[in-house]
Amino acid sequence: MTGVREILSVARHQAGQLLRVARGLPLQPPSLVCMTLDGDDLAIAAAELNDREGWSDPNPVAEFEAAFARWNQSATAVAMASGREALTACIHALGLGAGDEVILPGYTCVVVVNAFRFEGITPVFADIELETFGLDAASVASRISPRTRAIVIQHLYGLICRDYEALLELARDRGLRVIEDCAHATGAAYDGVRAGNRGDAAFYSCEQSKVLNTIMGGVATANDPEVGARMLEFAAAAPTPDEAWTEQVLRGVRLGYSRNKDPRRWWRRDWEVLRTSAPRLTSTSAGEIRGERPAGYGRRMSAPVAKLGLNQLRKVDRYNQQRRTTAARWERWCGEHGYRPPLVLPGSTPVFLRYPVMVEPARKKNREWALREERVELGVWFASQLHPAPDAVPGCPNASAAVAGCVNFPCLL
Ligand SMILES: *Cc1c(COP(=O)(O)O)cnc(C)c1O
Repeated sequence: MTGVREILSVARHQAGQLLRVARGLPLQPPSLVCMTLDGDDLAIAAAELNDREGWSDPNPVAEFEAAFARWNQSATAVAMASGREALTACIHALGLGAGDEVILPGYTCVVVVNAFRFEGITPVFADIELETFGLDAASVASRISPRTRAIVIQHLYGLICRDYEALLELARDRGLRVIEDCAHATGAAYDGVRAGNRGDAAFYSCEQSKVLNTIMGGVATANDPEVGARMLEFAAAAPTPDEAWTEQVLRGVRLGYSRNKDPRRWWRRDWEVLRTSAPRLTSTSAGEIRGERPAGYGRRMSAPVAKLGLNQLRKVDRYNQQRRTTAARWERWCGEHGYRPPLVLPGSTPVFLRYPVMVEPARKKNREWALREERVELGVWFASQLHPAPDAVPGCPNASAAVAGCVNFPCLL
């Protein structure tokens, strides 16, 4: 039922829009999320909401895993309820556990850090470089201790990270495992090989702000047969999400579309808010941001989500091509305005989930200039070093500079 909260939300939203128009700002700037949702995804979500019988069918999940593995050039892929839970599958597959140390970038999502802490693993933070916002190999080398077991290489914004080769080599030399965080980089490639296939295990996110969008979801991959076998074993034992969660994901498709992609979203968003006051999905709960392990953490993907994933996979190359085309516009913008464009590593094909640029901190704090001059809304990834948790990570000056100055241009307009 519609309540006071919904009516207030609509009133606030419409007042904000009026103010925008009055100030000559665009009413519907392109969104940074949910831009790969279309009518076909809406149809799948609606059909699934009417067919609960099929929600526990294991076949769509297996089909999505096979299709993802094929497309991603990986030997093994397992589908989980989120990227962070796919990371947990990687951790188990590699046999990492209590007492181990893992080196992570001091510029990441708190859910990545949590996945390790939940297993009793100590995260040790290294700094990033500011060309691709990836781990700095020299900083990683300085953080290795006798207890270090693994490194998490992160390809942010869909860029292959600058020190990819150096980090892989460092890990080889020091006997460390590599997990690739490809949450932003689904479909990116280096040397003709998709991101995630050079390390020992990788994970991908299908959350609504990412390349493949099933509102929430994730995939873990491996190529080594032993690692793959343990990954499959972990996934086979993982619980399926409860029905309420799957329902929220499916409702999220329509909500996400009407907020972000619908050409009539200036009022469709409000219509959706008024239609239902059913609980909405939040990607990361307040407790999780504080580091608490959510009940039932470590779930598999459910069948309806896998069907959405299969459909997204059919469109992903086309959308990634569009992202690259838009990136050329932001590269020209950098040239014209005296900013340094991000580095596209020679030999790499990025996907440009977003186009990151370092600007003056004041221009990150107040981003109205982009709305006025470029008619787009800017993203702020990341707004803190362990986004969205407020904690600062000492000893990572580049990471804290990126928090102050890195803005992201949307790449699907
Ligand atoms: C989104 C994200 C994750 C986690 O993915 P979820 O699907 O939200 O769990 C991990 N790493 C990075 C860099 C991300 O942006």
